Amino acid sequence: MNKYLIDYLRCSLCKNELTYLPFATGQKGTNDSREMETDGCLRCSCGMIFPIIGGVPRLLPESFLDYETVIEKNIPGYHIVRSKILASYKEIIDFSTTRNRSIKQTFGFEWSLLQTSEQVNVWDLNDRQFEDQLWNELKAEETDFKNATAIDVGCGHGRSGMLLAEKCSIVFCLDIGRSVEHAAKINSRMNCIFIQADLNHLPFANGSFDIVYSSGVLHHNPDTKAAFSKVSALVKKGGILCVWLYKPFHNSIHKVMLGLRNITTRLPLKLQFWLYFFTLLPIHKIMGLLKGKSKSWREIMINQLDMLSPKYRHEHAPYEVEAWFKAAMYTNVEMTTTNNYGFSMRGTLAEDAK
Ligand SMILES: [Zn+2]
Repeated sequence: MNKYLIDYLRCSLCKNELTYLPFATGQKGTNDSREMETDGCLRCSCGMIFPIIGGVPRLLPESFLDYETVIEKNIPGYHIVRSKILASYKEIIDFSTTRNRSIKQTFGFEWSLLQTSEQVNVWDLNDRQFEDQLWNELKAEETDFKNATAIDVGCGHGRSGMLLAEKCSIVFCLDIGRSVEHAAKINSRMNCIFIQADLNHLPFANGSFDIVYSSGVLHHNPDTKAAFSKVSALVKKGGILCVWLYKPFHNSIHKVMLGLRNITTRLPLKLQFWLYFFTLLPIHKIMGLLKGKSKSWREIMINQLDMLSPKYRHEHAPYEVEAWFKAAMYTNVEMTTTNNYGFSMRGTLAEDAK
């Protein structure tokens, strides 16, 4: 557990401050960060309860239901707490549970392919290229990182957050899926904190971060612009927002793949995996060999799953996203990287923004 949690985290439903209650001792609630060494839960005065399992705070509205068997054993009178929560938030929790079920599975499975000691490139980039791309996307000065608080919304495998933590004071890495568990396990930096949460219910006060980064995430929501507004709310005045999004790609193979999504997004995830493993993977392997490029099967499968599995996959033109930045009062708005599939855009939130 980490000393920064109580200072920064808020209830993802009412935004009130939280109190830490360790499971191991059953002590009464405390805000003393030095005591946060064990799993436990974060509790809000509104009644909500958020478990900390495996050292990772779980701040989805439905997290207490996901880990109910653990909570039941550790919180006296849990059935009363549960009734109180459901009396206040049943509709939100039911909606979130249903909506998040497939998202958690899809992205949790996708990133589980990186849980290996093998060196696996991500998005065709080796570690060095991945790092260079991150700094190019953000296009920030070294002074922007100094003493900065940062967040990676939709951190997946967690590499971007761990890199940001080398330069920033504190970095939160948030993902809706359980990829945060492996990322937290391999992370060695105390100032890099992994949490499981949903951008529709962000567990932070507005304006908490100097740098807000979200790569390849917003377009997997029902409404990309609405998701943009949610993460934008986290940016401090004078802070940086940087997003990477898909753009329209006028290529016949790409169009066929988009058409296939009408079928693939309805298939069970395991079936999709084996289907792509025995069809698309060999095709990619052969095409790669013909071009003299050798990709690992894990890298190819991550690319295929990201294309064909998520329920939502929107594409946006850069001018459209630039308009979102400008309407939200960002200055120095700039497209910082681009390739066939997408682009990154960053801006600085004006000091006089509302
Ligand atoms: Zn609350």
